[in-house]
Amino acid sequence: MSRVFNFSAGPAVLPEEVLKEVADEMLDYNGTGMSVMEMSHRSAAFQEIIDTAEKDLRDLMNIPDNYKVLFLQGGASQQFAMIPMNLMKNKVADYIVTGQWAKKAYQEAQKYGKANKIASSEDKTFSYIPDCSDLPISPDADYVYICENNTIYGTKFKKLPNTKGKTLVADVSSCFLSEPVDVSKYGLIYGGVQKNIGPAGMVIVIIREDLISEDVLPGTPTMLTYKTHADAGSLYNTPNAYCIYVCGKVFKWLKSMGGLEEMKRRNEEKAKILYDFLDSSSLFKGTVVPEDRSLMNVPFVTGDKEMDAKFVKEATAAGLVNLKGHRTVGGMRASIYNAMPKAGVEALVAFMKKFEEENK
Ligand SMILES: *Cc1c(COP(=O)(O)O)cnc(C)c1O
Repeated sequence: MSRVFNFSAGPAVLPEEVLKEVADEMLDYNGTGMSVMEMSHRSAAFQEIIDTAEKDLRDLMNIPDNYKVLFLQGGASQQFAMIPMNLMKNKVADYIVTGQWAKKAYQEAQKYGKANKIASSEDKTFSYIPDCSDLPISPDADYVYICENNTIYGTKFKKLPNTKGKTLVADVSSCFLSEPVDVSKYGLIYGGVQKNIGPAGMVIVIIREDLISEDVLPGTPTMLTYKTHADAGSLYNTPNAYCIYVCGKVFKWLKSMGGLEEMKRRNEEKAKILYDFLDSSSLFKGTVVPEDRSLMNVPFVTGDKEMDAKFVKEATAAGLVNLKGHRTVGGMRASIYNAMPKAGVEALVAFMKKFEEENK
């Protein structure tokens, strides 16, 4: 067996300890004589798995009691529609467009009401976060929407926007559990788990209880109504049971590592190794303004497409894989999520130094 350092943006690297544990439990989970994959979602064994996962997530994020945690299917993209369908009571929402994912959410919301683009960084290929201290928030906006960490462009909101009292909704897919968060500042936080938590196929929604109601846009399907899932403890229908189980293992792993304060420390340490090198390199350069740099997704370029392609090819051969950048940015992107060990980032930087020497 030979493992690579996997810099994929998602689905992405998982903690090796967790993969080993789930492998050990594959044929017989905790004396049940079956895999979690084979288990009824109505069984006591599974109820314990989902309850424990929720409790550990609540502990990690310090989620207040007046928020529900929902484990849903449809990925993060389904939330682009589910959010307006459930929250657009006045049929008005304000969107801050800082990348492709925010743009998709903004476009989807237009199907359900008046979605206003109140700020954008598209003028400079989404390489920065706009000033959000005094935006033209609509007086009747049902919520203000952000994508907190932009997976493709490598930017992160270091300061939340001033929503002037409106409910903040955030897509945190690629920064979920990467650092401590004050949940009470948001009405709804959601993220696809395949970036920084678990396997693909699930989204976690953390929603303040007063935002959950039967008063949704006419025609909203039962399955796309938050109340359906909140009332049923995420067991209205068969959930992605195996994914919930693996995510639960990752929550335990994060707790054993010291929780989100410690993850933040580690993530800052890892990101600094890479950004410091990029800032000193004569060949590679980061594409994001320093003050808005993500700790999770680090895009960089050489400025020469052929050189970029050569780098990606040689890095792959050296066991540093999935470094090709998104097609809209070009170049490279290293996603260095929670489960990427410091040794992986050090190996990448050592390889980049060597490549730089060889290609002067
Ligand atoms: C990957 C990603 C999505 C889309 O996730 P799916 O689960 O594939 O729908 C949405 N938002 C962000 C920030 C992402 O990184």
